[in-house]
Amino acid sequence: MKRVVIVGGGIAGLTTAFYLNKAISENQLDVEVKLLEASDRFGGKINTIKKSGFTIERGPDSFLIRKPSAERLARHVGLGEKLVKNGTGKSYVLKGDKLYPMPQGSFMGIPIDLEAFFASDLLSDEGKARVKQELTMEKSEPMADQSLGKFFKRHFGEELVENLIEPLLSGIYAGDLDELSLMATFPNFYQLEQKYGSLIKGLQDTLPPSNPNAKKESKFFSIEGGLEALVNAITSAIQPEILKKNVAVEHIEYTQDGYRLNVTNGEVYEADAVLFATPYNVTKTLLAPYLSLPGEMKATSVANVAMAFDLDQIKDELDGTGFVVSRNSDYRITACTWTHKKWPETTVPENKALLRCYVGRPGDEEIIHYSDEELEEFVLNDLNKVMKIEGKPLFSVVSRWEDGMPQYSIGHQEFVGELEEQLATKLPGVFVAGSSYRGIGIPDCIDQGEVATDKLLDYIQNKV
Ligand SMILES: Cc1cc2nc3c(=O)[nH]c(=O)nc-3n(C[C@H](O)[C@H](O)[C@H](O)COP(=O)(O)OP(=O)(O)OC[C@H]3O[C@@H](n4cnc5c(N)ncnc54)[C@H](O)[C@@H]3O)c2cc1C
Repeated sequence: MKRVVIVGGGIAGLTTAFYLNKAISENQLDVEVKLLEASDRFGGKINTIKKSGFTIERGPDSFLIRKPSAERLARHVGLGEKLVKNGTGKSYVLKGDKLYPMPQGSFMGIPIDLEAFFASDLLSDEGKARVKQELTMEKSEPMADQSLGKFFKRHFGEELVENLIEPLLSGIYAGDLDELSLMATFPNFYQLEQKYGSLIKGLQDTLPPSNPNAKKESKFFSIEGGLEALVNAITSAIQPEILKKNVAVEHIEYTQDGYRLNVTNGEVYEADAVLFATPYNVTKTLLAPYLSLPGEMKATSVANVAMAFDLDQIKDELDGTGFVVSRNSDYRITACTWTHKKWPETTVPENKALLRCYVGRPGDEEIIHYSDEELEEFVLNDLNKVMKIEGKPLFSVVSRWEDGMPQYSIGHQEFVGELEEQLATKLPGVFVAGSSYRGIGIPDCIDQGEVATDKLLDYIQNKV
């Protein structure tokens, strides 16, 4: 019998456990799988709580519909009927003391329909003129990698980047645009630049034309009961003896007979193949004796504050689902979701409201160490500058994610390639997956779990 150990019970590890277990039972393979999770719960960053009839996401609140692997997994574990699409109201950008409706006719903040885009007064006339110059940009010299910030500023100037592109992207990466890798985040933009010079022209040519009169489409799925329902459905679909909680791997040994994993309670797990679905900095420490790996991977710390209200505490409520905050504005919050409007049927009891705001950005990460009361006050102060809220929240839930968002620095892809190469030569049968490597979103982590399943199966079936 062959043995596989998966280290880490976040979505990447759970996906692998699920698909591996499925393949083993469908093909009647003689393979034993164990998943070892350090904490007392599965799901990692996916963490939903229920309080006074509210459903509150402490980590992610949804996943992109256009990346199919998360929907596929949800359907495999019987949640097809429970998928919920987001409400599609307006969204805004907070700049100065004003909320500007999100410009229409754009993709990730990059204009496609210039007429619709320039109807917004988010950008000054100079800012708009600078964006228009992009149409005449020549193809650039090929480059192995570059920073997202430099790339976008070269195309569109500072104003569009600060007021739209950066706030939108920091919702995904929470990183410093000037340090993030273009090739690890948006390689398609580099390819468009290589082909068309202008990204505007490239997007106009490659995206289907938008119909300004069409109903806005939902872009995200959540799950009835919150995203943790996905975690629970996966764990219920796997035999309980496979899944171990409160078991942190502390040390790994490579011997002639395979791998020996020492865990916190003193037990030892033996394996022919191992998947590390743990954050890179954990994996690196465990594998350090065998590999020569580059230093720590940077990760940004963020926190969010979910505040519950009676609906009538929120005066002059705007039509929409939330806003992002322009980079150079004088606010500590970076984004706010009007959760009761984005997910009206699944998150709040009748006549209640739920606002979820993020704090923490590169350069302002110490804010996550403030007390819950201080964070609630910062957030309420900021919110009251743009919308009127009467009184205090019914309750708040503060969620801190220290080093929770891995940063894909310039050269990230080469670094992942180098890591995988070292594993293949020095530790055969050891693989990595998860948000530190090939995509941070839930579907990206699920994709990596699917790929890891194939690699593990291939390895153990061919091992003599
Ligand atoms: C606040 C926040 C909001 C987000 N919002 C979204 C969103 O809306 N949509 C979206 O698609 N993505 C979002 N993301 C990103 C996404 O949630 C994560 O990238 C993804 O869930 C990470 O999954 P993972 O399995 O790679 O890692 P993790 O979830 O970090 O899981 C790793 C697991 O490994 C365990 N572990 C660590 N060390 C050991 C050890 N020594 N032994 C055993 N186990 C160990 C940990 O306890 C943990 O459970 C968000 C992330 C954060 C932090």
